[in-house]
Amino acid sequence: DNKITVQDLSTKLGKSASEIIMQLMKMGTMATINQEISFDIAALICNELGYTLIKNESSEIEELEIEALMDIEEDDEKDLMPRPPVVTVMGHVDHGKTSLLDAIRDSNVTSGEAGGITQHIGASEVMINGQKIVLLDTPGHEAFTSMRARGAQVTDIAILVVAADDGIMPQTVEAINHAKAANVPIIVAINKIDKPGASPDKVKQELADQGLLVEDWGGDVISVEVSAKKRINIENLLEMVLLVAEVEELKANPNKRAVGTVIEAELDKGRGPVATVLVQGGTLRVGDPIVAGVASGKVRAMINYKGKRVKQAGPSTAVEILGLSDVPSGGDQFVEVPSDKTARLIAEKRQEMQREEMLKASSKISLDDLFEQM
Ligand code: GDP
Ligand code: MG
Repeated sequence: DNKITVQDLSTKLGKSASEIIMQLMKMGTMATINQEISFDIAALICNELGYTLIKNESSEIEELEIEALMDIEEDDEKDLMPRPPVVTVMGHVDHGKTSLLDAIRDSNVTSGEAGGITQHIGASEVMINGQKIVLLDTPGHEAFTSMRARGAQVTDIAILVVAADDGIMPQTVEAINHAKAANVPIIVAINKIDKPGASPDKVKQELADQGLLVEDWGGDVISVEVSAKKRINIENLLEMVLLVAEVEELKANPNKRAVGTVIEAELDKGRGPVATVLVQGGTLRVGDPIVAGVASGKVRAMINYKGKRVKQAGPSTAVEILGLSDVPSGGDQFVEVPSDKTARLIAEKRQEMQREEMLKASSKISLDDLFEQM
C-alpha cells in the first residue's frame, strides 16, 4: 500500500503542511506533520487543492525504448577519421563578434566567388592552408546555454572576442565561464587594435584576473591581437584555431548512420520546416530517414553554407535540411534511423511524452511524482 507523510505531500504540492492538515480536518481526520496518509486520502486532498492526479507510464522506460529504436552505432577506434574543428565566436556585445565572422569569411572568399555567399544557414566554412574550419553563426551564449541545457555539445573551440579599448565586460566573463564549464578550449581574439584607445596589455591583465594567462605572460592561453575592421591578423587567428584543433585530435566515423545536433530551425512559408543541422558523426544523405527532437521525416534536400544543394554531408558539416514533419528546437539531437517507420514512431512517442510533460507542468501532478519517495 502506498503511503505518504503530510510533510512530503506538502513539499510535493508546494503547499504548507498546515494547509494539508486543514484539509484532513475537513475530512474528519486529525493529523500531525509526520503522519502517514494513504493514497486515497492524498488523492482527495490533491483534488481539493485543485490538482488532478494523472497516471504516467514511466517515461524513463520509453526513453530507453526510443534509444533502442534509434540504434546509434558505437564507434570503433579504427573507424575514426580526422574531422575539421567547429568554432563558436563569443564575447561581450559590440566587441566585434559579427565583424570578426565577416572578416574571417572575407579572408576566404576567392576572387571568383566574391559576394557570392548570400545564403544564410547559420554556419559557414572557411579554408586555411588547405584545412577546413566550421564557424557557427549563432551567438556564443545561445549556442552554449540552450544547447548545453539539452546536453548537446557542438563547439570544439571558442574564439573569445575582447575589444582592446573596452576590456573584459560582464558577458566576457559569462562567455569564459560557459567555455570552461563545457571544457572547450578558448582562443582570445583581442580585437579593435586599430583604435587609438586600444590597450591589449590591459586586456591581458584582466584575462589573468579571470584565470586565463596568455602565452606571452607565461601561460598557455593563445591570444591574437586583431582588427576585424582593418582585417589585421585574421589569418594568424585562423592558424591558431588549426593549431588548437590539431592538439585536440578531433575525430569522427564518417561511415555510419548520421548523428548530430540541430543548430536552428524555423517554419518557412514556402519550404515548410527547415533546420540547420551539424553532422557530428556518420554521413547524412538525401533520402535518409531521420528523427530530430519531436520531428521526423526523410531528407528531401540539403543545402550547404554557400546555398548550393548537396547530396551528402559528413562529420563537421553544417547543412540546411528540408523534409521534416515539424520544427525541431535548437540543441535537439538528430539521428538517422533505419527506416521511415522508426522515425515516425520515435517522433510520435516523443510528442506524446512532450504533451504529458506539459500537462504535468500545468496544474497536474502524477502519481509517480507523488509517491516516488516512498
Ligand atoms: P558584436 O555585437 O560583438 O557582433 O559587434 P559588431 O561586430 O557588431 O561590432 C560592433 C561595432 O564595433 C561595430 O560598429 C563595428 O564596426 C566595430 N568594430 C568591430 N571590430 C572592429 C575593429 O577591429 N576596429 C574598429 N575600429 N571597430 C570595430
Ligand atoms: Mg553581432
